[in-house]
Amino acid sequence: MTDSPLRILLMAAEMVPFAKTGGLADVTGALPKALKGQGHDIRVAMPRYGRIDRDRFSIHEALAPFPVPMDDHSEDAALLQASVASAGGDVPVYMVDNAHYYDRDGIYMYEDDADRFIFFCRATLEGIKRLGWQPDVIHCHDWHTAIVPNWLKTIYKDDPFYAGTACVYTIHNLAYQGIFGYRVLEIAGVDEYGFIAHPDMPHLNDVVDFMGRGIYYADIINTVSETYANEVLSSEFGEGLDPLLRDRRDRLYGVLNGIDTDINNPATDLHIAAHYDAADAAGKVECKLDLQREAGLAQSRATPLIGAISRLADQKGFDLLDQIIDPLLRNNDVQIVVLGTGDQRYHDRLNSIGARYPQQAAAFLTFNAQMAQKIYAGSDMFLMPSRFEPCGLGQMIALRYGSIPIVRETGGLADTVRNFDPTTGEGNGFSFRPYDSMALYAAIIRALENYHYRNTWQQLMLRAMSADHSWATSAHRYVDLYHRAIATRADRPPRETYNKA
Ligand code: ADP
Repeated sequence: MTDSPLRILLMAAEMVPFAKTGGLADVTGALPKALKGQGHDIRVAMPRYGRIDRDRFSIHEALAPFPVPMDDHSEDAALLQASVASAGGDVPVYMVDNAHYYDRDGIYMYEDDADRFIFFCRATLEGIKRLGWQPDVIHCHDWHTAIVPNWLKTIYKDDPFYAGTACVYTIHNLAYQGIFGYRVLEIAGVDEYGFIAHPDMPHLNDVVDFMGRGIYYADIINTVSETYANEVLSSEFGEGLDPLLRDRRDRLYGVLNGIDTDINNPATDLHIAAHYDAADAAGKVECKLDLQREAGLAQSRATPLIGAISRLADQKGFDLLDQIIDPLLRNNDVQIVVLGTGDQRYHDRLNSIGARYPQQAAAFLTFNAQMAQKIYAGSDMFLMPSRFEPCGLGQMIALRYGSIPIVRETGGLADTVRNFDPTTGEGNGFSFRPYDSMALYAAIIRALENYHYRNTWQQLMLRAMSADHSWATSAHRYVDLYHRAIATRADRPPRETYNKA
């Protein structure tokens, strides 16, 4: 049933190579290429942020400005078009253009983010209709596009153009739900339906929670790993939406992300000092010396180097590292290089560690895609002690570059990293379960110990580098979900109880 080609519209707030703040952009950049390679007519829609260079990406106009309903009036959007090349052919990328909403320095964190993403979604649905390209499935990602499943079951429900369109909603991170006041229902034109009421979630009675609405209305819901799909059913990981997720568990799936193996390839990566692969990993040590030089650390082939590339947010477990980094650096021959941006207190702390241990520790407190590749290639180990991790791409990219992950056993980290057992030789990394700084410390010490057994470490590296983390398998699983969504799209939302303001 998964063989017939589908028309799929993927909608998201960010996509590689146009705009990226995290893993979402990696996924929306890579999954369409894999789907295209499998013969589907996949197209992507995203906003055209001011920073996206029209010339660099050969962006042209697909639709001249047209009116988009917003609240009790309309505002104009143009639909621009770019494309990304893939082995299966070019993937068209539609960009919603409106100077007022998107000509800004950043992507998120503006007061009017609700308006900005409602506008993006509405302009996309209206624009696609004007183009006459009728999708079988709309695949929405995270809260920014969660109003789409809501609309397909309400204001577009009797629109013949969308009569056959099903919706899959992917949760990349439940911690970012997009919570706003009643006003956004009016802006989105769904105020007549009111808030969603759920007896076990009274906190939703008088707020608009976009993520919740996506879960409530989508035909199929998924998260980005099997383990996280189970975890979100519990109050510990459910971020207040677990009762709704439990109601919808019959249509909740976990599909592990892949990585873009064209971009993340140590044999061809243009940003690293020397190329290498599983057959000949000699170049990796050149990358390490280059990283040590760039980070101002002591240049040493033998000293194990731990890399970390991450948003510096509580989710990522940097408080655990904070508690042990002094004894770790004081008592061990080890180096650490961190690349990340986020909470100021982590910036301050990492700066002071770098100042205290200049030969051993360095922090690049910025977003820098090229530096990221240098760290994947130049590090021996890669640290991700996350409190929770829906999937995590860093550990998979690290594996491909032969940098052995040290991770907390949660979400997608649990699905991709198996703790190394020196007695059997099985495993591909070092993991720990309790959210506890001593457990992290012990995992790092185990990694450092094993690093000194050269044969053991070589085998670990080779196994890591030869594993398949490409999108091929997961793209098939998404196609399966698209077909399930089409099969169930006529179902009604689970409850008809709305809480009218
Ligand atoms: P999340 O999406 O929660 O931020 P993931 O591990 O899924 O975490 O994806 C993070 C992606 O962003 C990876 O591709 C990682 O290399 C990249 N990344 C994170 N921080 C930075 C940074 N400061 N500079 C460059 N790339 C970064």
